[in-house]
Amino acid sequence: MLLGLDPEQREVATTLRGPVCVLAGAGTGKTRAITHRIAYGVRSGMLMPASVLAVTFTNRAAGEMRGRLRTLGAGGVQARTFHSAALRQLQYFWPRAVGGELPRLLERKIQFVAEAGARCRIRLDRNELRDVTGEIEWAKVTQTVPADYPAAALKAGREAPRDLAEIAQIYGTYEQLKRDRGMIDFEDVLLLTVGVLQDRHDIAEQIRAQYQHFVVDEYQDVSPLQQRLLELWLGDRDSLCVVGDASQTIYSFTGATPDHLLDFRTRYPQATVVKLVRDYRSTPQVVHLANGLLGQARGRAAEHRLELVSQREPGPDPVYAEYPDEPAEAEGVAGRVRDLIAAGVPAGEIAVLYRINAQSEVYEQALADAGVPYQLRGAERFFERAEVQKAVLALRGSARSGGSDDPLLQDVVELPSQVRAVLSSTGWTTEPPTGSGAVRDQWESLAALVRLAEDFARSRPGVTLADLVVELDERRAAQHAPTVQGVTLASLHAAKGLEWDAVFLVGLTDGMMPITYAKTDEQVEEERRLLYVGVTRARHHLTLSWALSRAPGGRASRRPSRFLNGLRPGSAALGSRPGGPEAGAARKRGRRGPALCRVCGRTLTEAGEIKLMRCEDCPSDMDEGLYERLRDWRAGQSKLQGMPAYCVFT
Ligand code: ATP
Ligand code: MG
Repeated sequence: MLLGLDPEQREVATTLRGPVCVLAGAGTGKTRAITHRIAYGVRSGMLMPASVLAVTFTNRAAGEMRGRLRTLGAGGVQARTFHSAALRQLQYFWPRAVGGELPRLLERKIQFVAEAGARCRIRLDRNELRDVTGEIEWAKVTQTVPADYPAAALKAGREAPRDLAEIAQIYGTYEQLKRDRGMIDFEDVLLLTVGVLQDRHDIAEQIRAQYQHFVVDEYQDVSPLQQRLLELWLGDRDSLCVVGDASQTIYSFTGATPDHLLDFRTRYPQATVVKLVRDYRSTPQVVHLANGLLGQARGRAAEHRLELVSQREPGPDPVYAEYPDEPAEAEGVAGRVRDLIAAGVPAGEIAVLYRINAQSEVYEQALADAGVPYQLRGAERFFERAEVQKAVLALRGSARSGGSDDPLLQDVVELPSQVRAVLSSTGWTTEPPTGSGAVRDQWESLAALVRLAEDFARSRPGVTLADLVVELDERRAAQHAPTVQGVTLASLHAAKGLEWDAVFLVGLTDGMMPITYAKTDEQVEEERRLLYVGVTRARHHLTLSWALSRAPGGRASRRPSRFLNGLRPGSAALGSRPGGPEAGAARKRGRRGPALCRVCGRTLTEAGEIKLMRCEDCPSDMDEGLYERLRDWRAGQSKLQGMPAYCVFT
């Protein structure tokens, strides 16, 4: 099991006692190291599977980790998000701690915020509504009550969309509305769990008796509330292993901060700290761009950046593609996706990533037109289908009447046949109806549900119907459906921790990346980190594209993302109308392309730099041998070994 790890990863995997912190860049095998650590601990008998709680950031990541653990022979370990771990504990303890059933989860929060605004006689437009909702979420995860919000927001330098007192008023009314209707929201799940564990020592002790070892992935994005929950789970013990990359902090708007990661040693002076720099995911070309992006970063996270060193064979250079308008960009991307599939890249190994979900529509259309299967991450409709909702209600009813609600005392059943029986009682047949159309579609949805139950039962022997219902609720919350593998369409935020052979980063204009509402330096830096996350998702092919106007025939008023300045060649116009100031400059220089620094390969933009053929950061007194080695490395013909740090943009 340890053979597939490098020496530093092996240290992570075998240090099973005391606090461990792994600080490392994207693709260096952090997730792999902690998965192997758990499996090694379980297989060596040092960790009891049921005593380990692994926390990851998304339901998908948790599912992947459960899969990896199963393959490594450590199937019984709990791998969950903070939210799902808390929800599970809360459901179990609620009757004892509070009495009655856990209130229903509020799904359309924004509607409640709008209603609260109306009750306060404060009119909010769409953008304000979104931003006020964001402020309420921030206040909750930072455990700020409505009365304290104005002072806290001022202190934190929040860019609030409205008067702070008004937001506090809407926040208070929103909370009241929720209480009146017996509902809780996403943030309440963590808040209530923290509240119960703080107030009820007996319950906290019971949780601590069950879980003794904690592993947290993506720790750079832990919110203060999640951190508090982690501390309550731990009590006075220190069996905690955290891994993270400060340069991938992209959830600051939820109150997340890399400080917990960067200050781990201060909190636990005895901690084992391991740094990983070998990048196993991406080609040298992709890694070069990622390092270049970080080279321009500022702020605390940037001070701790680690230069990545690719371990992979060279691949194609990143493609920079400029298009006249958005439909042309989407069509161009869809065409290139189709070519990749024709060349043998599986559709499931391709992703199109954008800044905001609203950008997906034009890509959905273009991929559909090109006959390419795709799936939307974070926006699946599966659980919203009427037949699926009806089936889940029937399963829930059956779980309530038959199975035990106590997750610690589950009955062992034969789960898929039980699911088939419940669905049959709602009119479903095991054989598909003939023909296509709505009836067939409905049958397919339920068949997918049965397959999901089969997979679930296979992956976790002994699960009950009640467990399945919890799993379905979680998937519904994550909008994660059991669909075929198509091209992934996802926002950059949703792509965290994942990887694909080919990645398309689309819509990279100033205004979208960084997004217009990123105004402060910190917000702009977070946008840069978001782009870094996007770039580092690619194993092999990477395409970065943008459009100069929104609609065909529109004014070419957009510019490529400022984050690419100095990193992309002057122009690579693949659309029908190349443009932009840099494209013009490149045309003037003829077909040779932009002038590049002889030392580090960065695009030279200043006249003086172009004359000297090197950028200001690099020394001029290098010998020819080193220049040649650098040239070979940049051309992908050699590995980066023994190179001075300035060659890869420090
Ligand atoms: P991210 O920061 O994006 O979450 P990560 O540091 O968690 O990345 P992983 O996802 O664990 O990185 O690993 C990246 C890729 O490199 C995976 O495909 C993984 O299997 C591979 N990998 C990691 N370590 C090794 C190794 N020692 N040998 C071979 N492949 C490895
Ligand atoms: Mg990871």
